[in-house]
Formats: sequence, structure tokens, C-alpha cells
Amino acid sequence: MRDTVPDKPGFRGSMVSDRYAARDSELRRRLKGAGLRPTRQRLHIAEILFAKGDRHLTAETLYAEARNTRYPPSLATIYNALRDFAAQGLVREIALYGSRTWYDTKTGPHFHYYLEACDDLFDIPEESIPDINVPVPAGMRIAGVDVIVRLEPVAPGERDAEQSNPRGARPSSRAQPPVEPFEIR
Ligand SMILES: [Zn+2]
Repeated sequence: MRDTVPDKPGFRGSMVSDRYAARDSELRRRLKGAGLRPTRQRLHIAEILFAKGDRHLTAETLYAEARNTRYPPSLATIYNALRDFAAQGLVREIALYGSRTWYDTKTGPHFHYYLEACDDLFDIPEESIPDINVPVPAGMRIAGVDVIVRLEPVAPGERDAEQSNPRGARPSSRAQPPVEPFEIR
């Protein structure tokens, strides 16, 4: 009877390694497709970077995550890899005044909120994206539009001031959709 019981931990282990192999070859394809040689370090950094879906991070954040892995890359290696990934369009680079460079794993056009108090960058919901319509000088075209809306928390008792739109923002006739919940670190 005992012999017929499947070896569950071994079975699970092989599924994990299959999944790892599939992920590894997908990342190799992705790097090669972007014209980057899939070195062990680049693969390792890409694995950590893309493991959690769409997100915004700095080299330092990625370095902190990578430190828990078996062969942690140096911060300089992470900087170089992120710069290469950004140059080849695998991630989007977002420069903020007075802050470190951020990287966004979502590369399509979209805009951002930046919460200075928490040093947190997150997406403006697509349904709230402002329509930017600016004249373009002759002989030029718009290569891209980056919008970062800086946020600050409203102190209790300040709500009236906030609702009166002191900065001249166009008042909305309908309630604004709630902002996606975000993590405060
Ligand atoms: Zn984003």
C-alpha cells in the first residue's frame, strides 16, 4: 500500500522546476527579442523584476529584493541591467525631480501620481487620464508625453480647502473615481 502513495514532495518539486524552466526560457526569449544577450546576471535580475506583474521600482528597491536571493547581484550590476532594459524598451524609465530614477514594468503610454511623503509612484487610472493637447512646433512631432501629478496627503480639517480647488484645477461635475489602493512603505 505504501508503495502506491505518490511521492508528493518530489512531484511538487518537479512542477516547480518545470515552471522555473518555462519562466527562464520565456525571459531568455524576451531579452534576446530586445537585442540583449541573456547573461546569467541579466536573467536573474529580470526574474526578480518581472516576477510581480506591473510595478514601479528603483534600483535600490530591486537591490533590496535581490539580497534575499541565492546569488545577489551588486547594486552596480542592477543599475547597468535596468539601464540596458530601459534602453531596449523592456522597462520604462521615469525621472523625478529630486528623486532617484524609477523603472516601470508597464511600458505602454500612461501617466503617474507621485506621493512625495512616501516616495511612492503609481499609475493614474486610465479612465482619469487627462487629454493633453498642445501645439507642436513646426518640423517636430510629439515623441511621448510624461505626466507626473505630485500628491500630498490632506490634513484633517483641510478638506474644505482641498475641495475648493485652490490651484485652479478644473472642477469635476462627477465624483472622481477612487484611486487604486497603494502600499505605503
Ligand atoms: Zn506606471
